[in-house]
Amino acid sequence: MTEVKTQELLKIAKENGAPVYIYDGNKIINQYHKLLNAFKPLDIKVKYAVKALNNSAILKLLNKEGCGVDCVSIFEIKLSLLAGFEPSQILFTPNCVGMDEIRQAVKLGVHINIDNISILEQFGHEFSNTIPVCIRINPHILAGGNSKISTGHIDSKFGISIYQMRHVLRVIESANIKVNGLHMHTGSDILDANVFLQGAEILFDVAKDFHDLEFIDFGSGFKVAYKEADVTTDVEELGKALSERFITFCKEYGKELELWFEPGKFLVSEAGYFLVKVNVIKQTTATVFVGVDSGMNHLIRPMMYNSYHHIVNLSNPDGKHRIYTIVGYICETDTFGWDRKLNEVHEGDILCFKNAGAYGFTMSNNYNARMRPAEVLMLDGKNHLIRKRETLDDLLKNEVDIVL
Ligand SMILES: *Cc1c(COP(=O)(O)O)cnc(C)c1O
Repeated sequence: MTEVKTQELLKIAKENGAPVYIYDGNKIINQYHKLLNAFKPLDIKVKYAVKALNNSAILKLLNKEGCGVDCVSIFEIKLSLLAGFEPSQILFTPNCVGMDEIRQAVKLGVHINIDNISILEQFGHEFSNTIPVCIRINPHILAGGNSKISTGHIDSKFGISIYQMRHVLRVIESANIKVNGLHMHTGSDILDANVFLQGAEILFDVAKDFHDLEFIDFGSGFKVAYKEADVTTDVEELGKALSERFITFCKEYGKELELWFEPGKFLVSEAGYFLVKVNVIKQTTATVFVGVDSGMNHLIRPMMYNSYHHIVNLSNPDGKHRIYTIVGYICETDTFGWDRKLNEVHEGDILCFKNAGAYGFTMSNNYNARMRPAEVLMLDGKNHLIRKRETLDDLLKNEVDIVL
């Protein structure tokens, strides 16, 4: 990390306290344009996956750039509408929700993406062809190695299996449903352009049977670097190969369709820094633990997915390297990282978790009656507090006091 960035992050922690999530707004904007440029001359539509980071300031920032959103709950839709998105820019991609939630989304006028045949039938009986729908298909390609974040495999609950297309076509025909989009999202770990292209071929093949398409949505799967040597999706290479293939497909299909993507991580992961303070250094027979003022309540990815987050000591950037195990203060085993090489750590130092923009704050919770941290947005050289740290009042807000 550069000296300037280190000082800036430390300044924010000093002003707002730790723990604190910090987002680099300019980095988010750059990532968005990098994606658009990779697919030129196509005019792709990017639907940011709101679940990655849903602070309204971030939504407004992306809205200003012309980005759309992908929402997985009615409340994400409402947050997006409040942030200024038009219903036409919003795609609703829920899974395992009931007709009542889908009905509410229809009323709000957003695009609907359906991921099972039961709801597709109910939708058809209720709306017939008055409201077009997109269909989420599971192409059964395996993306990456971590089954918890890959959603295209045979045991996955996501999408309608590619092998059920005959059934889908029957339902569509008999209920007179208008399908305006096809969608696939095979998880967050696609390594290379070839796997993407393989999925694309499957979708192009299916598309021939649907005659009212307006768009094809390839979901996400863009991989970002968590470790320094990590392989990432080469979006330029993917953009070049996929746009060429997409243009030929449109010619075969006989109509110019829109190409959509729904990145979460790609847009916000690397823009995020999570800063925590070292409470205690505890030497045991096994290791040297660094205990910080945070835990699985604020950043659960290491415990839930075994995800790697690079950790650096901002307070002592020139200190000699030593090996530590970084743990949280929650009464569970909440280990952030074993055997990490950090510049010598002292109690009171500020550590920084990198790649903390995606699925950090949005997955946080109040376990152990701990407050959720503040969020700060850095934009054009200015820092803005975009969410206050919670207080005890927030915890008690919905409790109902009874007389005992
Ligand atoms: C979570 C999700 C995404 C975003 O995935 P990333 O790995 O963060 O890019 C996109 N589409 C759908 C349907 C999702 O559920």
